[in-house]
Amino acid sequence: MRKIALVNQKGGVGKTTTAVHLAAGLAELGKKVLLLDLDPQANATLSFGLPHDMERPSAYSVLTGRHSVQHAVRSITGNLSILPSSIDLAGIDMELSSELGRERVLSDKLNELSGYDFILADCPPSLGLLSVNALTFVDEIFIPVQCEFFALHGLSLLMRTIDLVKRRLNPTIEVTGVIACMYDSRKSLSRETSDELEKYFQEKLFRTKIRTNVRLAEAPSHGKTVFDYAPDSNGSRDYRNLSREVVGLPLELPVPPPVVEEALPAGPKPVPEPDLEPTEPATVRPAVEL
Ligand code: ATP
Ligand code: MG
Repeated sequence: MRKIALVNQKGGVGKTTTAVHLAAGLAELGKKVLLLDLDPQANATLSFGLPHDMERPSAYSVLTGRHSVQHAVRSITGNLSILPSSIDLAGIDMELSSELGRERVLSDKLNELSGYDFILADCPPSLGLLSVNALTFVDEIFIPVQCEFFALHGLSLLMRTIDLVKRRLNPTIEVTGVIACMYDSRKSLSRETSDELEKYFQEKLFRTKIRTNVRLAEAPSHGKTVFDYAPDSNGSRDYRNLSREVVGLPLELPVPPPVVEEALPAGPKPVPEPDLEPTEPATVRPAVEL
């Protein structure tokens, strides 16, 4: 069983879209998948058209010991299930703050789960207790990065937090994948971001880049994955390929087409300042004391 968290404290980079479509894509490849929605925004839950009310068993009621995880998990398709989220998860940091071993609550509650090939965790855009619980539970981390200006900012804080969790809570954890999201091959900024990612993460950067595709943004409002909503779209192709790459299958369809140089406006071109070099000791601390 592979346990993977999709983490990036930066908001809106494609964590949920990737978690949902990787989960669905792996399920289509015949893998048994459980998706954990650990974000109080419940976007992954909503993406499948599920209600996210506080009365139902959810990640919150599991973490607070009211329901067992088996009771809270909902089936989406034969191979795909979800532990849904709800807004009350927003208060979990406070509720667990005085608990002994508060970083291990998720691991404790889920440690008897079996029968899955993959457990994927969609994390909120912060490095708070929920993300730390996810990092303590999983073995692998995938980092979705938006190919935009400032995309690389904050990655060194994320890497330091992962390092801290590895040293103190979960020695087996590794970043095993980095996913370039919202990639537009016509934009030099997208290419530069992807080049920087490749320089730093090397073979951990997935060959499949997730192109910007409006169908991916539309699908959740229909309560469907892009595979059902727009099966022939680039979004559907890219996430199918990403899923194949994750399980080591050859890519089915070509990676993004050759680069077409965009027409640049006159004037100096902004270049993103990567802050990936962990040159000095940490001055910024993660949101949670470890
Ligand atoms: P948050 O940090 O708030 O949880 P996130 O990192 O989970 O955000 P998403 O919710 O996956 O990011 O994506 C942010 C927005 O961008 C959403 O509206 C989503 O539909 C859209 N989006 C994500 N990926 C793409 C893409 N490849 N092309 C077009 N739109 C996309
Ligand atoms: Mg999200």
